[in-house]
Amino acid sequence: MSLPALAWRSETAPRRTVLWHDTAPGRTPTLPLDGDTTADVVVIGGGAGGLWAAWALLDADPALDLVLVEAGSIADGASGRGLGACSAWSGGTVHRGGPHGLDTALLRDAVVEVGGTAAAEQIACDFRYRGAIRVARDPRALTRLRAAVDPAAEDRELDRSALARRLLLAGGHGALSTPDCATTQPTLLLHGLAEALVARGGRIAEHTRALRISPGAVVTDQGIVRAERIVQATGAATVPGGSWSPRPVAETAIATSAVDPGVWERVGLRRGQLLHVAGRSDLRAVRTADDRLVLVGATAAPGLLGRFRPGDPALRALAGELAALLPDLATAPISHTWSWTRAATATHPVGVAADGLAWIGGHGPEPVAAANLSGRVLADLLTGSDSALTRVGTHGWD
Ligand SMILES: Cc1cc2nc3c(=O)[nH]c(=O)nc-3n(C[C@H](O)[C@H](O)[C@H](O)COP(=O)(O)OP(=O)(O)OC[C@H]3O[C@@H](n4cnc5c(N)ncnc54)[C@H](O)[C@@H]3O)c2cc1C
Repeated sequence: MSLPALAWRSETAPRRTVLWHDTAPGRTPTLPLDGDTTADVVVIGGGAGGLWAAWALLDADPALDLVLVEAGSIADGASGRGLGACSAWSGGTVHRGGPHGLDTALLRDAVVEVGGTAAAEQIACDFRYRGAIRVARDPRALTRLRAAVDPAAEDRELDRSALARRLLLAGGHGALSTPDCATTQPTLLLHGLAEALVARGGRIAEHTRALRISPGAVVTDQGIVRAERIVQATGAATVPGGSWSPRPVAETAIATSAVDPGVWERVGLRRGQLLHVAGRSDLRAVRTADDRLVLVGATAAPGLLGRFRPGDPALRALAGELAALLPDLATAPISHTWSWTRAATATHPVGVAADGLAWIGGHGPEPVAAANLSGRVLADLLTGSDSALTRVGTHGWD
């Protein structure tokens, strides 16, 4: 199949950096750990899982002495690189009830909880509660989307003509419109959460890598943290308790330069609204606050990770998808491209073992609300609270 002409061929090559990192205001990282220390709880990992777990723990007990260690910088991991989608989406697999699912009603509450926390803590992270349009590229995808309709939500099915009236998009077989979805600038949200944690007395040590975990202590490259409770939030595929595919998936993202509002008007995508295109592999896109399109999709080329340059198959394929799906954006210059690996997961582990070791990870393709909810579940489990969250019992934790 020949691909449409790609804008980046004739423009300056896209920056190979994460748009979210590139456009976030400069931030001074917290200092590494300064030798051995003690704490009530140590959290390992400054992604969505670790930060929301730390947040919920301090919320439950403001007097808690909490240390969070992060190997690199806050938001370096998958949760600072994806789309920042915040929804109750189950996809029919990941979060829907059952032994490994998060309850969708609780997830819907979590969407509101994330927005409320951002507002209360004055975290300017472009949180927009604009819903999602989930488009099926083929009949099988339409069946999958229909199966994921939540009867309790106000999801609406759009046939081809209703979809065409909403979105100028090529090739949709039908769609779902769902109000229960927000988007955020994920890096800004995580930076803001980290700042709010520090303001509440939490200690964050960036550039501090955990080397060994044992009951009662975490050995890092900057010293030992002794704590009775330890939360491992080191990213999908590294936390225990999950059912991970041994083959990680390579995720690629492209961002366009700002697109003229008149073009957006024609296309029909609102700022902050999520566009999910379901097919043999799913694509997700969002129109950012500054009118770019960010498109994310899995590529089958993990070997290309970190080596993108114009012409590389993964970037080329994604740019081709963009041009094919949204022809009005086909000539928009691509300003940024980045990639990362994630686990291909079937489960959503949150767990606490008897020896005080706990874990959280695997938040799915629209991870923000799931990470928030998991963080609160974990905090209740760790503090022994008899709460609505710990009582539901079908949430995939031990
Ligand atoms: C389109 C799409 C589809 C996705 N689908 C899925 C899916 O199906 N399932 C799924 O699980 N996820 C999926 N994801 C990824 C999902 O976004 C991530 O799983 C989730 O955001 C990870 O959050 P986290 O906090 O667990 O990990 P991360 O954001 O990766 O954060 C982990 C942090 O731990 C730090 N760290 C690692 N090791 C150490 C160490 N030794 N010491 C100190 N710090 C350490 C890292 O530096 C990092 O900052 C998808 C993402 C996208 C965009």
